[in-house]
Amino acid sequence: MPDRYKAILLFGAPGAGKGTQGKILGKIPGFFHLACGDVFRSLDMTSDLGKQFLSYSSRGELVPDELTIQMWRENMHAQTVLSLYKPKQDLLILDGIPRNVKQAEALHGSLDVLKVIHLRCNDETAMMLRMRRRALKENRMDDADDKVIRHRFEVYHDETFPVLDYYSKEIIADIDAMGSPAQVFQRVLEVVVPVQDAHFNRPAAVGA
Ligand code: ADP
Repeated sequence: MPDRYKAILLFGAPGAGKGTQGKILGKIPGFFHLACGDVFRSLDMTSDLGKQFLSYSSRGELVPDELTIQMWRENMHAQTVLSLYKPKQDLLILDGIPRNVKQAEALHGSLDVLKVIHLRCNDETAMMLRMRRRALKENRMDDADDKVIRHRFEVYHDETFPVLDYYSKEIIADIDAMGSPAQVFQRVLEVVVPVQDAHFNRPAAVGA
């Protein structure tokens, strides 16, 4: 196992499209996508941990850092043991973590952050619309209530946005998050492919 996982962070406000882009990227050989929110949502909601997650997320709050980091470590370990994620071959695409500066510090020893993709969207109304649509489609309680959505934006501005200052400016790529998923994905690929080329051997095409 390498000392630190080589990673690209997907960064942006709720509804900016991190999950959509991450899921598409994760389908391409040589990338492994992990969304912290998905890991939480896969918990058994009747377990202690699941109940804790629900109590925070339903209010639009972050889950406490220690719990989050521990969960993330256990999940990464499991993915590696199962060979779903191969650190020597796959560029890790992390979405939803770190979500505050404390988490960024805690992950410093485990992550070699090669790029931060900042999905920028200044139109909060458009993001809220995306989230309401997602709430209906994916049964997400945290996206169903306008008060909770607004609080999630506040938490993003107060706690998550400052994470950008934690990383060096040279590795931050600002990407316009408005447009269709395909249009945004084209912009994301322009940033991500050179990083993969520089750090990994080209993955073999399946069936080639
Ligand atoms: P979105 O993609 O809309 O920003 P996520 O699916 O990433 O939302 O996260 C949903 C909820 O899970 C968050 O509101 C929060 O309660 C919890 N969560 C996810 N990632 C973290 C994290 N790194 N630290 C603390 N809480 C988190």
